[in-house]
Amino acid sequence: MNNSSIAPCGVICDICLGFQRNKNTCVGCNKNGNKPYHCTVCSIKTCVEKNGNENLLCYECVKFPCRRIKDLDKRYIAKYGESPIQNLSQIKEIGLNSFFENEKLKWKCLNCGHLLCVHNDVCLNCSHINHYFPTT
Ligand code: SF4
Ligand code: SF4
Ligand SMILES: [Zn+2]
Repeated sequence: MNNSSIAPCGVICDICLGFQRNKNTCVGCNKNGNKPYHCTVCSIKTCVEKNGNENLLCYECVKFPCRRIKDLDKRYIAKYGESPIQNLSQIKEIGLNSFFENEKLKWKCLNCGHLLCVHNDVCLNCSHINHYFPTT
């Protein structure tokens, strides 16, 4: 993880399925290159409120948290047990470097030490359970 590893919405690229998979691997939200079509037209990344600065993190926007971010947050909490809004609030509070240090520890697979995938119920490296993934 580094400073370009966070999407404007607060989701960490390193733990995204598209970024972790071996085939058709995504370059990450903030880089140009291979990525799923829906990510190239992401309404949060291309939001007009950013005035052309696509990498602006949404917490830096006067409209934060807007309806779009709130909807994403609700979806992510329900499906994956992860809150992009909480991520952005933490970055604002403690800065990107400390945030990433915490997240690297948080997302370590308890069995193999590989980073877990937020979109998967088991570690993509060793199939050990992702203990953050909602069970219902
Ligand atoms: S798949 Fe989409 S959300 Fe995931 S890292 Fe790539 S661009 Fe970002
Ligand atoms: S918080 Fe909402 S309005 Fe502001 S840049 Fe992000 S998506 Fe756009
Ligand atoms: Zn593992």
